[in-house]
Amino acid sequence: MAVATAKAADLLSARDRTRLAGVHPDLVAVVEAARQQLPFIVVEGMRTRERQAQLVKSGASRTMDSRHLTGHAVDLAPTVDGEVRWDWPFSTRWPRR
Ligand SMILES: [Zn+2]
Repeated sequence: MAVATAKAADLLSARDRTRLAGVHPDLVAVVEAARQQLPFIVVEGMRTRERQAQLVKSGASRTMDSRHLTGHAVDLAPTVDGEVRWDWPFSTRWPRR
């Protein structure tokens, strides 16, 4: 019989964990819960001001007021059979809220 208090399996990889370093614990908990429902990888969590400035310069971001700078944002990418999928039609299978 399983112990009722056993933690759910950690489906996040070591790389995902590294990328979650510095992210607010509440948001990490949300990512952990989501990973129990959907397959994805963590692309990025915390950003330095230098990285954010690079992203703004390249046009990938429009703000220096990003929540990535404070640990209140994460970027995730869905996977199918372990492969990252960027195609938009697949993304629509994710629940929308
Ligand atoms: Zn982001």
